[in-house]
Amino acid sequence: KILLSVEKLRKQFTKGEAAAVERVSFDLGEGEMLALLGPSGCGKTTTLRMIGGFETPDDGRIALNGRDITHLPPEARGIGFVFQDYALFPHLSVLDNVKFGLRKLSRPQAEARAREMLALVGLEALGARKPHELSGGQQQRVALARTLAVAPPLVLLDEPFSNLDAAMRVETRQEVRKLLKAAGSAAILVTHDQEEAMAVADRIAVMEKGRVIQIGTPDEIYRNPVSAFVASFLGRSNILAGTASGMEVKTEFGTLPLSRAANGAVSLSVRPEQIMLEADPDGPASVVGREFRGHDQLYWVQEGERCMLVISGAGAMIDVGARVRLRICDCVVPLA
Ligand code: ADP
Ligand code: MG
Repeated sequence: KILLSVEKLRKQFTKGEAAAVERVSFDLGEGEMLALLGPSGCGKTTTLRMIGGFETPDDGRIALNGRDITHLPPEARGIGFVFQDYALFPHLSVLDNVKFGLRKLSRPQAEARAREMLALVGLEALGARKPHELSGGQQQRVALARTLAVAPPLVLLDEPFSNLDAAMRVETRQEVRKLLKAAGSAAILVTHDQEEAMAVADRIAVMEKGRVIQIGTPDEIYRNPVSAFVASFLGRSNILAGTASGMEVKTEFGTLPLSRAANGAVSLSVRPEQIMLEADPDGPASVVGREFRGHDQLYWVQEGERCMLVISGAGAMIDVGARVRLRICDCVVPLA
């Protein structure tokens, strides 16, 4: 069932300049987690702030549970918001921070609910502390407990993990996903980190220059990017030229199957892990660089004018300088 429906949202801050957000449309299901993914400045925060009611769209419509909320003030929307800097009240205890949104409940009810939420995020023992006495990850969990305490059907998260160190970030994002799923809340997560988006979101909307250019599950987008921008923003990609005819394409690596039909001259995306590397003293290519990554190796392989990125299993190491042959062993993706 659709919870949130965003239709053709537009926002232009400065006359004569490109709009920050242009015709952004998507639906969000109940309990679904959507990532808005794109580089800095592509309009993610502006989109989120319009949904939250902190920014007025120039055009377009936002509906929550079928009700038009486009022009409601933030507090009338019933949407939870977790900001990048957590925005905890520094002078209030952790418990009082979580109680803050629960003023409609009686005092004992609010107390019980706040303790329950702190237990849910694993901080029941730290309720008396002040926010500055907690780690970044713990503060993040308090902010989330405070937001989830009122059980909003939708939670908006703007780069919520960016203040955490790498290890904390991986752990916290999985916890946050679990908490949202347990509470049954849908969420929109703004991030510029493709790994984070793929790791936690049910679906990803990729944004470029104010527009959503592709939306789908992480798997769909990774396997079938619509453009070179999406292909290289979600993971790494080699771009080749070819001549397509239906579900096949002729390339300098032979005739290859396509992930979707195309015709005529096309650019193609080939993931580094879709290429096989064979040591061959008579091979047409040579290894010009290598990076050991533990579970696999990254190779840069020069063939004529072209340098290809190849990822191959940790098995047989091939030395820099060795002659090799490349084989593409999967279907390739035609790009717009
Ligand atoms: P992101 O979150 O993807 O980094 P933003 O939505 O913050 O992108 O910004 C999109 C564009 O809108 C940027 O060019 C930014 O400079 C501009 N912008 C954002 N907020 C304002 C504002 N309040 N006034 C003027 N320009 C803004
Ligand atoms: Mg932003």
